[in-house]
Amino acid sequence: MLDLLLPQKCVVCGLGGTQLCPPCLAGLPRIAPPLCERCGTPTAWPVRRCRECAGRRLAFSSARAAVYYDDAVRAVVAAWKDRALRRLAAAAVSVVVEIVPPPTAEALTFVPPDPDRGLRRGHHPPRELAEQLARHWELPLVAPLRRRAGKRQRGLSRPERRRNVAGAFTAKTGVPGSIAMVDDVLTSGATANAAASALRKAGARRVEIVTFARVVR
Ligand SMILES: [Zn+2]
Ligand SMILES: [Zn+2]
Repeated sequence: MLDLLLPQKCVVCGLGGTQLCPPCLAGLPRIAPPLCERCGTPTAWPVRRCRECAGRRLAFSSARAAVYYDDAVRAVVAAWKDRALRRLAAAAVSVVVEIVPPPTAEALTFVPPDPDRGLRRGHHPPRELAEQLARHWELPLVAPLRRRAGKRQRGLSRPERRRNVAGAFTAKTGVPGSIAMVDDVLTSGATANAAASALRKAGARRVEIVTFARVVR
């Protein structure tokens, strides 16, 4: 509702008329193959495991993202998160559907909000993304994951991130055998891995990760 009352302005270039203007939407940096088959990191040629994920114990079987997390994408994600600009969800969904192949999973879920933060904002981009993707891909949406409050991931080193989120998630049992989990941004993969691990413990044999954006080093 708030959306309709605010003057419309592109969150990337500031041009009036729409929350994300067509040139800026078209200019979001799509991720193209070749990719690491496992973690989805762009690589020089197709590989099964890459430098990023070789030797790491990953609870998910694949991770795919639509765009690189550059300044434009950061602006889109921040506006979507903090100002609840819901039309940005539709724009993000259109790019995910364009770039990421439909998962082979039986159901879709999303990384739940940190109870301290997500609820205060009253909306949760990963859930909005998952709801719209579930409609597009004609998959049921389930919400078995629970998350306990933790420290912010932002500003922590990779090992700190892993420690911080390990054990933050639990899942109700009866999770479908193969499930795809949606998040807005994949940063170190620590959150996705911890949540995927909880889904595995609750019965999933295969967890695919789908995100709008990913950080690539
Ligand atoms: Zn623009
Ligand atoms: Zn990899």
